[in-house]
This record gives sequence, C-alpha cells and structure tokens, in this order.
Amino acid sequence: MRICNLSSGSDGNLTYLECGKTKVLIDDGLSCKETIKRLCLLGVSPVDIDAVLVTHEHTDHIKGIDNLCFKYNIPVYVHEDGLTSLEKKLTKYIKLIPFKDNGFEVGSIGVQSFAVPHDVKRCTGYSFYENQKKISIVTDLGHTTTEIIKNLAGSTLVYLEANHDVQTLINNPKYPFQLKQRILGENGHLSNKVSAETIYELLKSGTRQVVLSHLSTENNSPTLAYESVKLALEEHGVIEGTHIKIDVATLSPGAIFKL
Ligand SMILES: [Zn+2]
Ligand SMILES: [Zn+2]
Repeated sequence: MRICNLSSGSDGNLTYLECGKTKVLIDDGLSCKETIKRLCLLGVSPVDIDAVLVTHEHTDHIKGIDNLCFKYNIPVYVHEDGLTSLEKKLTKYIKLIPFKDNGFEVGSIGVQSFAVPHDVKRCTGYSFYENQKKISIVTDLGHTTTEIIKNLAGSTLVYLEANHDVQTLINNPKYPFQLKQRILGENGHLSNKVSAETIYELLKSGTRQVVLSHLSTENNSPTLAYESVKLALEEHGVIEGTHIKIDVATLSPGAIFKL
C-alpha cells in the first residue's frame, strides 16, 4: 500500500491511497483543479482514480467531489447514514454508493468503516487492509471511544486528528464563545492532548507510525502539535523516533508512506 496526504486541515482534506492497481481518494476538500494538480505530483491521473471515500459532508471534505467525480465518472462511497446529508450538498449527478459498517472492498483494497463522534449525522473513520497490513484514518472527532480504539488497533500507520491546542483555542480572541464550545465539545475536534493519549493506546496494539492530521490553522501549528504530543508521550516513557514515529500532515502535500 502507498498512502499520501495531499492536504489536511480545516481548509481542505485530501488523501491518496493506492493498493496494487486500485487507487482511491479519501475525501476531496480541494477544488477539482487543485486536486488534479496534486495528484499529478504523484504521477497519478484523475482518470485512474477508482473511487472517492467520504468521511462526512463538511465542505473541507467534499468541496471538489462534485466536479471531479462528475468529470471523470468516479463513484463516491458514503455511509448510508450520511447519504442524504451528502446528497443535499451536491449540485451535479454523481454515482453514490452507500455502505454499512460491515466491511467492503474497492478493487484490491479491503475497507472497514466505523462511526466517529462529530457534529453531523454520520462521520466515518476508515481502516484499509492489504494482506496483513492495515492503515487507518480518523479525523473530525470530538473524543475517542473504546470502540474507535478497537477499530484502530493493529494499524501499522494511523492518520489521527490533532486539531488544536486547548489553551490556544480558549485564548483565541477571534473565536466566538459558541465556536470554541463546538470545537471543544464531545462532537467537535480532537485536541493535541487527547490525540497523544490515543496514540499511547495505539502503541500497545503495535502502531509505530502516526501522522497528526486536520490541524487548525488558528489554534495549532505543526511544531506545537508535534511537540505537545512528543512531550505527552515522554511522560509515559515513550520516545518519539525510538518507540514511535510522529509526522504532521499539513495543507501542503506530505510524505508518501509505503507499507
Ligand atoms: Zn474537517
Ligand atoms: Zn467536520
């Protein structure tokens, strides 16, 4: 498997995953033009994309889907509970394939989906399988649950949300009180602190590489997220670079991971 974050954060999310001949995108929160440009960096043409898998209908995850999928006839997979909300946001006719959480396949990629707590009817986390390898992506969640940890367990690589630094968010004069409450709430976004606690749990099940994702531009920074998580893990005796490798996904295309 080959995976690459092409954009991550509140301004647009786009992840590329390849397994054998199968090529998929997880979300497409960039414009169609920008998506094509970034795929081109990987030597991938949009005509080669087999499917787009949607996490949820917020604009930062679906902005480019309409145009890209209409133009290149790409099917869009969405959990059945998120189907209506997604349909309402679409302006073009594209092929939607609803699924349940009982596992499915896209070409040679095995997919397992699971629900994550966010302020939409349905937000989906994904695990991808090839032979014994497992990669997971989970962003846009207000908190983690034992069920989510169970779903992520055994992943070699996890893209995990580290949205904000709690103090930076609380002190941000540009953010109204209600927005802060929403982000900090049970169905908001994951803080650096909770992200670190989650990583500590994942380590026990064999995860050795985490990519901190969906960082807030206003209330976090790649350095702050990395340092906070590193420090929190050190308190558990976990050393970044020795026990686990931590990378940070940003709005620019990131590293390609091969498993
Ligand atoms: Zn988002
Ligand atoms: Zn969202």
